Amino acid sequence: MALIVQKYGGTSVGTPERIKNVAQRVARWQARGNQIVVVVSAMSGETNRLIALAKEIQSQPDPRELDVMVSTGEQVTIGLLAMALKEIGVKARSYTGAQVKILTDSAYTKARILKIDEDRMRADLNAGCVIVVAGFQGVDELGSITTLGRGGSDTTGVALAAALKADECQIYTDVDGVYTADPRIVPDARRLKTITFEEMLEMASLGSKVLQIRSVEFAGKYKVRLRVLSSFADEGEGTLITFEDDEGMEQAIISGIASSRDEAKITVLGVPDRPGIAYQILGPVGDANVDVDMIVQNVGHDGLTDFSFTVQRGDYQKTLKTLEPVVKHIQARGIVSGEKIAKVSIVGVGMRSHAGIASTAFRTLAEEGINIEMISTSEIKISVVIDEKYTELAVRVLHKAFGLDQAR
Ligand code: ADP
Ligand code: ASP
Ligand code: MG
Repeated sequence: MALIVQKYGGTSVGTPERIKNVAQRVARWQARGNQIVVVVSAMSGETNRLIALAKEIQSQPDPRELDVMVSTGEQVTIGLLAMALKEIGVKARSYTGAQVKILTDSAYTKARILKIDEDRMRADLNAGCVIVVAGFQGVDELGSITTLGRGGSDTTGVALAAALKADECQIYTDVDGVYTADPRIVPDARRLKTITFEEMLEMASLGSKVLQIRSVEFAGKYKVRLRVLSSFADEGEGTLITFEDDEGMEQAIISGIASSRDEAKITVLGVPDRPGIAYQILGPVGDANVDVDMIVQNVGHDGLTDFSFTVQRGDYQKTLKTLEPVVKHIQARGIVSGEKIAKVSIVGVGMRSHAGIASTAFRTLAEEGINIEMISTSEIKISVVIDEKYTELAVRVLHKAFGLDQAR
């Protein structure tokens, strides 16, 4: 008998009809002799609606109170799915994060899971019950409700699978797997049968929101067998996230292209080119709790240089404010900045052993007249910052240039 955790995203539970379909699928898996834990998101659009509602009261909602109300979306879905299961004769029980006791820290709106009590779930499973757990939410030590960040139900699914040592965690969504690029941007993107955990981690962190990055981190840490599948297709194999030592792994140089519009770029102009200057600029930014992503320092001229970096768009205004006194203090010439940038990335473990990937990418972008503003690389990815208006074009031409539209 296998223990399987299935997570269904917002679109998959978006209407009563779809919830009934999910119940049918869960029933089929259980009838094959499996124990099933289901994690659900709020019905599609609900979390956005709740956040907008909060903003009508407070432009910057109090994080603790925001979590109390934003987490209600998932609570509705667990009740509805448990009813749908009972309606077709399947024993089921719904649980909120606090009822399971998914213990998190108290970082409201972006809490981290610390511990999951499995006793109650085990008892129900052994009694032949399907367990339906609210995704995205937990509870802190003081009993306050917390949420895990947008897309956090993926993380609930993988964390439950890790805690219960499940045989597989299946993420059901509106696409039938992980694609070589977002199929909404590249219509001829192809589904990957497998993707390595490392590549998936890069894809998720570089903007492919098909899996929340923390869910991938969990899967890596606890070696959870993780699969992405469609809740709209009958049955399929989806995409399996593999670990590099898995056998029979498909080898490709590039696995996918990711893009993100979540960042903003800041350049401090005319900075005196002397030791310690990067620290003088980025120290206060770090102290303001802002994460810096890409950093570029130009070659100095006449004792001056320009210093550029990117931050999350949500932190853009705060960073500009933080830098005002810094610019005066170091006697820089000023700041130019913009939110209209995008980061486009090429990801693949095969890059380690292949030269010329970067030059192909740069030539491809040059041929389209797309200017590269910043570049950063790691062993398995190349990211470029470009003007936001070229995002889709850049993803499409890179996808084609690396033959990702061709069958392997
Ligand atoms: P859910 O509500 O089920 O959690 P999400 O909207 O969070 O679903 O994630 C699924 C979406 O992720 C897809 O509809 C797709 O547009 C997007 N996506 C982005 N990059 C990729 C990719 N490389 N492969 C598949 N889907 C991707
Ligand atoms: N409902 C939450 C969101 O929209 C969590 C999730 O769907 O994973 O972000
Ligand atoms: Mg999601």
